[in-house]
Amino acid sequence: MYMLKLILPGLFFVIVFCSCTEHADPADKIITNANIYTVNETQPRAQAVALRADTIMAVGSVEEVMAFSGETTEVIDLGGKTMTPGLIESHAHIMGMGYNQLNVDLMYVQSYDELINMVSEASEGVPEGTWILGRGWHQDKWETQSERRVKGFPTHHSLSEAVPDHPVYLSHASGHAGLANAKAMEIAGVTKGSENPDGGEIFKDVSGNPTGIFNETAQGLIRRVVPAQNEETDTKALELAIAYALENGITSLQNAGADFKDIKLFKKFGEEGKMGIRLWTMLSGRNDSLLNVYYASGPEIGLYDNFLTVRSIKLYADGALGSRGAWLLEEYTDAPGVHGHNVMPMEDIRRVTFDGLENGFQVCTHAIGDRANREVLDIYEAAFEAFPDKATDHRFRVEHAQHIDPEDIPRFSELDVIASVQAIHMSSDRPWAIFRLGERRIVNGAYVWRTLIESGAVVINGTDAPVEPVSAIASFYASVTRQTLKGTPEGGYEPAQKMSREQALKTYTLWAAYGAFEEDIKGSIEVGKLADFTVYNQDLMTVPDDQLLDTQIDMTIVGGEVLFERSE
Ligand SMILES: [Zn+2]
Repeated sequence: MYMLKLILPGLFFVIVFCSCTEHADPADKIITNANIYTVNETQPRAQAVALRADTIMAVGSVEEVMAFSGETTEVIDLGGKTMTPGLIESHAHIMGMGYNQLNVDLMYVQSYDELINMVSEASEGVPEGTWILGRGWHQDKWETQSERRVKGFPTHHSLSEAVPDHPVYLSHASGHAGLANAKAMEIAGVTKGSENPDGGEIFKDVSGNPTGIFNETAQGLIRRVVPAQNEETDTKALELAIAYALENGITSLQNAGADFKDIKLFKKFGEEGKMGIRLWTMLSGRNDSLLNVYYASGPEIGLYDNFLTVRSIKLYADGALGSRGAWLLEEYTDAPGVHGHNVMPMEDIRRVTFDGLENGFQVCTHAIGDRANREVLDIYEAAFEAFPDKATDHRFRVEHAQHIDPEDIPRFSELDVIASVQAIHMSSDRPWAIFRLGERRIVNGAYVWRTLIESGAVVINGTDAPVEPVSAIASFYASVTRQTLKGTPEGGYEPAQKMSREQALKTYTLWAAYGAFEEDIKGSIEVGKLADFTVYNQDLMTVPDDQLLDTQIDMTIVGGEVLFERSE
């Protein structure tokens, strides 16, 4: 045995060496003439990469890498464009992202015609009979009104004409009414003879025909025939979410919670080879039967050629800052006596944390307020003490880690707990967060990215989509400017907490990969790692701050395949 072990590595080395020097087996693909940031400290910059199948086989100058080309090598010339490792979104809700895309957003339409156009567009390419759902329209906000109106509301006729074969239901911005087209009313069995339910009204014209408007409880007549989320809508939602992520340069997405149904769907996509982005999902920590199944079978890592991993659990310690649900040590500055609240009972969080660690699962807990962050760190620490040999490389995470008591900030590094932040939330929320927390707490403990990084903690980044758009560019911009998307205030909020561009890129690449135990296969451009890349229209590492938001994703490459390319 001893001899064998000694010899094998030597043999392996020789074989690899030989195939490289002779180029008997040239690269499948070469991406060249690129401005590459590799996020690999030993070779930070490069101009070209060579790939075999889904893996990087060479990184270097154009000359060095072109040496790997052969007759069958496909060459992609980026014409000097900037390329980084594929971006990793560290916290998003993929099904929510998809369902958000499925529902047509009518909040900003200016006329009934515009509404009809949007619905009509949404129905294109969707099989006949599939429901088209929308939300947010309000006729009082329109600049021009529809020709036919009953009781101040438009009637369904022109909508039904434009979209005859798909049932349509569009919720009013108020939530108290909705507009159905003829197909939807036909499916619901609503006719001239239909009677109003208690507490609701089917709007009818002078001849007694339904106008398409359903008020209050009458909405139920349509809603009850709108298919609940089912396999078909789930499939559509997941497809849309994948396309949406790819458009935003995302090659890997860390999904913040999934149930049996979601995982079954992910596996179906994996088997059919249509995952597109690499998905790493947390299990819903509220679902004991799901957890018990996984405790018995263990984590699932790198399924379908590294397109699906299930190895972590999502828990919730508190609510959100906006609704004063974030759990604070001291009262809210703008609500005396209010401290926010705990969401999942702490004893449940403790139990699942201990069981998760014991069974080889990574635990990720939502914590926004300083009290929630402290309680979660306390539980994590107790679990690490209870199972010391399971805790040597646990990668436990706090999701959001938005507001941390200064005493607890160093504990992230001390306990090796990862801070999974969403920089874009600072950009969106900081203007009013100061009212909730007051100056002292904002300065000392809110969105303290730089302090966390400098204390040695691993910080990873994301958007919490669909809460925010899944735009890595917006979150990158927020990370380095600490400004709102309108560019305010000058110099940024609490500028000492800005990330450098290198740090921000790491939060979206190598560190994010570490947050999922994937730094050996992702997060930097180096030989042996997966060929996942994001290509941009400009150099996001050097353009001035005020031009960062103009950065566009030109190409998204996953496993060596170009899965998104921006059309000019
Ligand atoms: Zn979330």
